[in-house]
Amino acid sequence: MRAMHCLGLPFVLLVAGLRAQHDAPAHPPAPAAETKPAGEQKRGSRAPATHTPRLELHPLVLFEHVKAGNEAAAAAAAKRKPMPEPQARPAGAGRYVCAVVACSDCDVDVPQLLGLRREDVLLISVPGPFADAELVAQLERAVRDDGLRLVLVLGHVGCRLHKPADDALGKRVAVARQQAERQKQPLGKTIVQMQRELLLAASELLQQRTGKDELRVFPGEIDAATRSVQWHHTKVDAMPLLPVK
Ligand SMILES: [Zn+2]
Repeated sequence: MRAMHCLGLPFVLLVAGLRAQHDAPAHPPAPAAETKPAGEQKRGSRAPATHTPRLELHPLVLFEHVKAGNEAAAAAAAKRKPMPEPQARPAGAGRYVCAVVACSDCDVDVPQLLGLRREDVLLISVPGPFADAELVAQLERAVRDDGLRLVLVLGHVGCRLHKPADDALGKRVAVARQQAERQKQPLGKTIVQMQRELLLAASELLQQRTGKDELRVFPGEIDAATRSVQWHHTKVDAMPLLPVK
């Protein structure tokens, strides 16, 4: 919610629309033991669960894993070598290493580009990528049922869907374009950042898990030509310990 106020009325209306369609009882998240990056202290006053097996990884550990996989893929592409074999999944990851919300117009093998096996990625293709109520519901199920801890929202350079048009997609692009002009930054970057905020604003469960630092959502853009991903998150979002609000 914290970034909503700067995103303007059209954004608020979009969230209201998603929420109206979206029937999500906020289940209290189950307490979970977790492995965090070295040197980090656990927030809050919960007693440490000394006998619970450490089965889940901190979202940043998963993000670093994915970034390293993509860097290897981009390095291979630069040398015109075949794509590297997928990385071994991090020990203790949930059913999925991450969920990727990718634009359906993006013609690349997204798991391969991230150095992941297909079965380790919950891959959700949507035009734009623009969030809708069904997407929010699917992510919530994966968070609740499968221990999902990392969501990537990936657009791509040169998306053909980012053009003005008098249809539902064109209207969402127009809202994003206004925002991009206000922020004086490229449209593609603005779209994925807005979808990140929209997902969090539309889901109490995603907000709760993010607030407890059990989930992170990172926006980025794929450059299909170089196989690289340019990440568009803020510095704060990648800090090991999120500031207490
Ligand atoms: Zn696209």
